[in-house]
Amino acid sequence: MMVPSLFGWTQKTENKMALEPIKVPSELPLGKLQEEVHNWISKHGVRYFNELTNMAQLTEEVGEVSRIIARRYGEQSEKESDKTKDLGEELSDVLFVVLCLANQTGTDLQAAFDKKMNVKRERDHDRHHNNEKLK
Ligand SMILES: [Mg+2]
Repeated sequence: MMVPSLFGWTQKTENKMALEPIKVPSELPLGKLQEEVHNWISKHGVRYFNELTNMAQLTEEVGEVSRIIARRYGEQSEKESDKTKDLGEELSDVLFVVLCLANQTGTDLQAAFDKKMNVKRERDHDRHHNNEKLK
């Protein structure tokens, strides 16, 4: 099955040894991160895991973040073996997989993020200021 990606139309299960250059504006912060992940994949990862594998990986990494939050900041007790777990490292794992998914699905994450922030600025300002629970 052919799917769109930052590299044009590609075969979904294609195992490329050399990846084509990424096509996002790398001078912008998220584009720079997308490019960095793409370069890492090209140099060290051989190829992207397919989208379904990365979706499962994302779920797993979110679960690791959730475990730390629930036990360190929530009401569950934190096991001794969990006390050395690094929240930043786990959040970075989530970000890495998100960047992989963006790259392999042809998503310009900076453009999408900018669009989302504009929506949130316009839609949510009054909503949050008028939320009694936040006062
Ligand atoms: Mg992890």
